[in-house]
Amino acid sequence: MSISIDNNSYIFLPLYRSVFFRFCKFETKSKNKQDIIITNALNIKNRKERITYIYDATCDYIDDYYNHSDICGFKNLKCYANRSNGIDNNYGCCRFCYYKTNHGCPSKNLACKLFNCSEVCKRRRVLTYKDLRMLRLLSLRQRHVVKSDYFSLREDVLKDLYCYTMTFATIRVVFRLIRNYFKSKKRT
Ligand code: SF4
Ligand code: SF4
Repeated sequence: MSISIDNNSYIFLPLYRSVFFRFCKFETKSKNKQDIIITNALNIKNRKERITYIYDATCDYIDDYYNHSDICGFKNLKCYANRSNGIDNNYGCCRFCYYKTNHGCPSKNLACKLFNCSEVCKRRRVLTYKDLRMLRLLSLRQRHVVKSDYFSLREDVLKDLYCYTMTFATIRVVFRLIRNYFKSKKRT
């Protein structure tokens, strides 16, 4: 059996990712990038591979939307918000992150990519979670992890997404936040 994905299919996405559609083939005639990502994801039947694909494809979609540009306007390590408010901090929101570099983020973090302060929002249209329909292919628990997992490497976020329980994923996220905060303080 094959099922076509288009603009009207989005309300059925939670159903399509269920075990009942495991042997279905999904297809789309749409040129919309999100439709294509959703169709590709639904055709990946292995759980971990599907989660990894959704995560990476969503990160790439966001980067493409912004033309891979620096929407925080960094100059000499100071972002728009730092410069507008005369704050003498470097690295903007990344300043508490252990992984920050002078050349930007060394990884792919979906939560960080979707965080935009008022300074950025007043300068341009930004993407929000609601704009990313492909995230409906994740469970509520996984969407919660995606929204909260700041200051983490891609590989760690993926491990959090693979977890089967919210409690275990939350323990991992909180433990890593605390560990990275102290490691970051030690390094500065
Ligand atoms: S989101 Fe705002 S505060 Fe954070 S780095 Fe960008 S401009 Fe700076
Ligand atoms: S993980 Fe987030 S906070 Fe850390 S460097 Fe990357 S974008 Fe910045």
